[in-house]
Amino acid sequence: MSVFQDLVIAYRVLAQHGVIDAYGHVSVRCPKDPQRFWMARSLAPELVTEADLMEFDMDSEPVDARGRSPVHERFIHGQIYRARPEVNAVVHNHSPAVIPFCCTDTPLRPIFHMAAFIGLGVPNWEIRDAQKGTDMLVRDNALGASLARTLGAHPAALMRGHGAVVVGENLPRAVGRSVYLEQNARLQFQAHVLAGADGEITFMDDAEVAANVSWQAYDRFWTLCRMKVLQELEETSAGRATH
Ligand code: MN
Repeated sequence: MSVFQDLVIAYRVLAQHGVIDAYGHVSVRCPKDPQRFWMARSLAPELVTEADLMEFDMDSEPVDARGRSPVHERFIHGQIYRARPEVNAVVHNHSPAVIPFCCTDTPLRPIFHMAAFIGLGVPNWEIRDAQKGTDMLVRDNALGASLARTLGAHPAALMRGHGAVVVGENLPRAVGRSVYLEQNARLQFQAHVLAGADGEITFMDDAEVAANVSWQAYDRFWTLCRMKVLQELEETSAGRATH
């Protein structure tokens, strides 16, 4: 068990839950040096292995690229680690059910307990406030810093017309929050349809949110997903060995 193995597992868990597809990424702060972080080279998440993990400094520059191409949007990660010393894992995704909430004035709200953290606030980053006419990607440190400022102390932020960033003190929390953010968006949309335009939806209140987020670490979710991915990886390598 290592932080690198857990990072590979995080890529696969996020892909298996439809949070990231061929794009999107997850990173982890280096346990030995808080001024460094690790994430995969530019590669579809389900193909990531430990050999694809690259180390970056706080400017999101690769420390030892060895010919590998980093992802364009690595600046999201460096700027969030710089702004948030307590954050040790960052997910960036194009979570499909979340998108409608970042381009309408309907805010995401916590509709069920597994996504209580939404009640802590999920601001929406408007890239045009930082730079007009972009291709929507966070391609430099100035855009990354702007996004980190909008995120502030919150557990996640939406990115208008693009996706979201989700953070946590560790990988299980950042990955769990990402999966349940997507589920909450889907469920909230369904509730809006059932309730109709003027219908009432009962969301979690602030006291319920506070009581839940104090302990919700997604440990059981992570343990299950981790075990499944490790089985798959074992089967893949056993298959290779016999052919
Ligand atoms: Mn993106």
